[in-house]
Order: sequence, then structure tokens, then C-alpha cells
Amino acid sequence: MKYDFVIVGSGLFGSTFAYAMRQAGKRCLIIDKRAHAGGNVWCQEVNGIQVHQYGAHIFHTSDLSIWQFVNQFVQMKPFVHSPKAKYFDTLYALPFNMNTFEQMWGVTTAEEARLKLDIETAPYKKQKPINLEQQALQLVGPELYETLIKHYTEKQWGKPCSELPAFLITRIPIRLTYNNNYFADLYQGIPVGGYNPLINGLTAGIDIELNIDFLTDREYWNKQAMHIVYTGPIDAFFNYCFGKLEYRSLRFEHRLLEGVSNFQQHAVVNYTSNDVPYTRIIEHKHFDFKSTPDTVITYEFPQAYNESVEPYYPVNDVANNARYRQYRDMVKKDSRLIVGGRLADYQYYDMHQVIASALHKAQKHLQNET
Ligand SMILES: Cc1cc2nc3c(=O)[nH]c(=O)nc-3n(C[C@H](O)[C@H](O)[C@H](O)COP(=O)(O)OP(=O)(O)OC[C@H]3O[C@@H](n4cnc5c(N)ncnc54)[C@H](O)[C@@H]3O)c2cc1C
Repeated sequence: MKYDFVIVGSGLFGSTFAYAMRQAGKRCLIIDKRAHAGGNVWCQEVNGIQVHQYGAHIFHTSDLSIWQFVNQFVQMKPFVHSPKAKYFDTLYALPFNMNTFEQMWGVTTAEEARLKLDIETAPYKKQKPINLEQQALQLVGPELYETLIKHYTEKQWGKPCSELPAFLITRIPIRLTYNNNYFADLYQGIPVGGYNPLINGLTAGIDIELNIDFLTDREYWNKQAMHIVYTGPIDAFFNYCFGKLEYRSLRFEHRLLEGVSNFQQHAVVNYTSNDVPYTRIIEHKHFDFKSTPDTVITYEFPQAYNESVEPYYPVNDVANNARYRQYRDMVKKDSRLIVGGRLADYQYYDMHQVIASALHKAQKHLQNET
């Protein structure tokens, strides 16, 4: 066999796994059904602006080793993620913090904000929440729920909040300080030149073949290596033998606005009212603090998943998780197979988690070999 590993998927999981194996002297081939490497972190430069083609990606972690790992391939520009929420014509600060409470209720001290929150949530505290709406009302009360949660969440998941499971928002970060930093992590940034240099660094010296769907000729690819590392949807790998897993999808609409140097004065604006069908508009140049005559914006439209569109978010309810575990048990029975990443593990991962998981799985595999 020409390779030790055929790695299906060139996203952060596949690329990081390939890097770790190459460092250990293994021969890897990465295949991907898309026309580019990088999976969902792939960027394209448009009029001097790095455009995150699959939605805004902000790197954040509290794990120093992962931060250093990434920094060896690409320089990180400091960036503090502090999205705004637009409810009809009013802009609010996120995550919920003193800026939000002052805008909404005119309160300026932590004591006043706490008292107002207690008054708002008191009527909903008595019963155990059985859906997302009840959970949200119990955590923040009706005004914040209506303005910043309800319509955004309903657009995101395509269902009324009263029909969504409570676990989706078991916690809502509430800060009684004037701090708009969305993440509480130690390290946060945007790679200079986008995410492609990171993927190029990880995959340097590794064979990559694009526009190839592993599932259409799996017999051929199985013969190319001792091990298959699969990062696509796990239900598809097993021909949906236990039924289909549910996902939510997104549609991205990118627009180059020539002659518009500043469209929304912010990188990420969430649309929390139901007068528009999209959930976010991203203005990519503001990740880079770029001064250019034009701008590129991306609308994010949540949409139902079917096999002709990309699966983005797993729907981790009880039924889907039980089905996923049946697939996971099948993986355990196949010693040639390694799976990982957001689709094969059927789990929402941030980038640092995917990298950590790939390094861990590679390490474990090498240890088992010796
Ligand atoms: C809209 C959005 C915004 C996000 N924002 C952030 C953020 O701000 N910060 C953060 O840390 N994380 C963010 N994430 C999460 C981040 O995108 C993921 O953690 C990471 O990209 C997952 O990497 P992966 O390798 O698991 O999957 P992917 O990047 O999806 O890679 C999987 C690859 O496998 C390929 N593939 C699948 N099936 C086959 C097949 N049969 N044959 C060949 N190839 C196949 C696909 O084409 C794809 O290239 C965001 C995710 C989304 C959807």
C-alpha cells in the first residue's frame, strides 16, 4: 500500500491528524470532495479582504499548547469578538452585560441590573423548564427573551422556541460588568492572511486530492492505505443503516460592495428580529482592521438540511444522540477505521477542540502501535 492513512476530509481535523502522522514518519493522503482544502475554515481573498467562506471564524482557546501549535503556522492578530445584536432599528451589545442592561433598562450598576433581572425572571422560577422558551424566560425574563433570543433562535433552528429542547440554552452568560468580550478564553485572534496559511502549514508535504467523494468509490480508497481516517457525516459512512441523523444547514450569500468602505461598522451583527430571514451579517474587513475602498459582507441564512446542502449543526437531542451512539459502536468494531471532527463525532466543536481532538487521536493511535 502506498499510504499508511487515507484521510477523508481536509478540514482542521483531517489536516491536523495528517500533520501529526507526517511528523511521526507516516505516509498520508488527504482526499476531499470539495474543490479546495480547509473544510469550513477556508478563506478567499476578494479585493484585498480575507472572506471566511463558511461563516465568521474567530479562533479562541484557553489551552496554551493549542494556541502555540496554531501560532507556529500562522501569526494571530489580536481580535476581541464582541458581536452586536440588531432588533429592528436598535443595536444592542452582546453577550448580555452591563452595556446591554443599560441600553434596555437604563440601569448603570450591578445591583440595579441584578434586581431588574430578579424581578423579570421571578414569575418563571417556579417550574422546571421543559422547553427552550421556558428555560430562557427563567434565565433572563420576557424582555431580553423577546428582543435578543426568541426570533434569532427560531430562525436558527426553524422551530418555535416552545418546541425546542431546553438544553440548547442551559446557560446564558450574564456579565454584570461593562465587558463586551464574547469569549472568556485566555487567547483569541484572527489569523493574518486568513485560515489558508494554517491549512497549508499543516498539510505541507502531504498529498492532497480534491473533488473526490470517498463514498462513491470506497473500495478503491480502502485499498490505498492500512487505515481510513473519516471526517464526514457518520451516518452516510454506514449507509444510514440506523437511520439518518438530523442536521441544520446554512446558506451563505457573499456580496462585494464596491465603493462602500464601511457597511455596518462592525465585524459581526446578529439580527434578532423576525423582519429579516437571515441571522447574521459579517463584514470581513473588520476582522483585519483593513482600510480598503470596498467591502465584502456575508448574509447567513439558516435552512433545513437535506442531502443537496451542507450539514453544519448536529441536532443533539435524545433521539439523534441515541442513533449516533449506534454508529459510534460500529466504528469501535473496525480496527482500520478512525473517525473525528464535527461530522463524524456528531458534535458541535470549536476549532481549538477539533485540533486538540485530532492531536489526541493521532497520539493514541501511535501509542497503540508500539
Ligand atoms: C457558521 C459557523 C461558524 C463557526 N465559527 C466558529 C468560530 O468562530 N470559532 C470556532 O472555534 N469555531 C467555529 N466554527 C466551528 C468550526 O468550523 C469547526 O470546529 C471546524 O471547522 C471543524 O473542522 P472539521 O475538520 O471537523 O470539519 P470540516 O471543516 O467540515 O471538514 C470536513 C471536510 O470533510 C469533507 N468531506 C466530508 N465528507 C466527505 C466525503 N465523503 N469524501 C470526501 N470529503 C468529504 C468536507 O468536504 C470537508 O472539507 C464554526 C462553524 C460554523 C458552521
